[in-house]
Amino acid sequence: MLKINNLHARVEDKGILKGINLEVKAGEVHAIMGPNGSGKSTLASVIAGKEEYEVTDGNITFEGEDIDELAAEERAHKGVFLSFQYPVEIPGVSVTNFIKTAINESRKAKGLDDMPAKDMLKLIREKADLLEMDRKFLSRSLNTGFSGGEKKRNEIFQMAMLEPKLAILDETDSGLDIDALRIVANGVNKLKSKDNAVVVITHYQRLLDYIVPDFVHVLYNGKIVKSGGKELAHELEEKGYDWIKEEANA
Ligand code: ADP
Ligand code: MG
Ligand code: MG
Repeated sequence: MLKINNLHARVEDKGILKGINLEVKAGEVHAIMGPNGSGKSTLASVIAGKEEYEVTDGNITFEGEDIDELAAEERAHKGVFLSFQYPVEIPGVSVTNFIKTAINESRKAKGLDDMPAKDMLKLIREKADLLEMDRKFLSRSLNTGFSGGEKKRNEIFQMAMLEPKLAILDETDSGLDIDALRIVANGVNKLKSKDNAVVVITHYQRLLDYIVPDFVHVLYNGKIVKSGGKELAHELEEKGYDWIKEEANA
């Protein structure tokens, strides 16, 4: 599904990614871990096509197609989803109305008409129930006064509605409380299938107790310096990153 080959990228003239190779197949869950400032969020942003990042070498293919030249929206319409892509607070625009617009924009990009209102409502209810969301939440103003857990819930809801082929969840450095961790984990576990793939970027080994990854990669100084199975996450929890840095710098 996703193939990243020798990817180099920079932001504001600073080289951040220095030769990333990664292959993600349908049905797989990959975790990306690594010390702060390694380039994890940059990698997520480059895959999603955020403009401020410049690819200087290598390439990214998604379902066999080179996507390097595509704008972020085009990649999204092809089924690439990045959490926090829409972190805006929009007073007066509800969770429901926001997602309706996003769905219809995505359909428009594929040459489809708007989803009939009845079907949309059915889909919204179905996904809200799947994620055990309080219906009242759907009429809240987008991200306005949301707690950390509510932001996560909205993100996972967006993911459930958009049904991406590839979901990239960047949990960032900010503390996720245990509720938020569970919301993310339950959501991902309910939504994952043999046809889609998930890349979870996290500092928290704990999250990986709930979302069990098939592969764990450690990013350090712009490169994947180690890959392994889920046991690698436990090893990192136990030993920290110093040994990884030493190995990488040797
Ligand atoms: P991580 O997510 O692993 O903590 P990041 O990808 O956020 O790492 O950052 C990697 C490096 O790139 C850091 O040194 C960071 O300061 C820099 N960086 C990332 N995004 C930007 C940006 N938009 N402008 C300037 N520097 C950036
Ligand atoms: Mg960081
Ligand atoms: Mg980050």
